[in-house]
Amino acid sequence: MNLLLYGNPILRKRARALRRADKSTSALLDEMMQVMQEAPGVGLAAPQVGRPVRVVAVMVDDIDYRLINPKIVRRAGRVEGTEGCLSLPTLYGTVERPECVTVRALTEKMKPVTIRGEGFLARVLAHEIDHLDGKLFIDRADEETLHWIVPDDDEENGYRGVPATLAEATERFEHLRKGTLAGDDVAHRLAHADMPGPRGL
Ligand SMILES: [Zn+2]
Repeated sequence: MNLLLYGNPILRKRARALRRADKSTSALLDEMMQVMQEAPGVGLAAPQVGRPVRVVAVMVDDIDYRLINPKIVRRAGRVEGTEGCLSLPTLYGTVERPECVTVRALTEKMKPVTIRGEGFLARVLAHEIDHLDGKLFIDRADEETLHWIVPDDDEENGYRGVPATLAEATERFEHLRKGTLAGDDVAHRLAHADMPGPRGL
């Protein structure tokens, strides 16, 4: 199971709702949890692994959420925060999200469940549900806040931010998808896995 990178058309499709869940749905969620934790990330939507269905996996504060057909039914407050995405590795930007969300979804056994998320959990849930509609954080981020996280031993937290433009990011991910990156970009990507930076979604 591979993570799809920005530029892959599946990431821009509206994912379809599941009418029933079976063993293959649980297997998909198991694999998504694994890919997410290895990345490492805190949230993953099925389209990011090439499956255009409304399924998301989230792990925040050691609690995992395995959600089918999730829908935000209530949102309250607005808050800005830094956000990244496993499909746009090392790119971050400031995105305004609801401070609190109420999400209705189904469990793997197709039982209705309601989740109230506040702060970071609300952000992660909103980000993942956006994926199901083909939306990415760069659509909501103020372009002036976009930046690459680059490893830097001289910095206290081990990385620094470098301003990015959407055009440049699009080009870089296109190269990354096609495996035609220049040397320093490959190093940039490899360094990401161990970086103590913000976690992807
Ligand atoms: Zn994402």
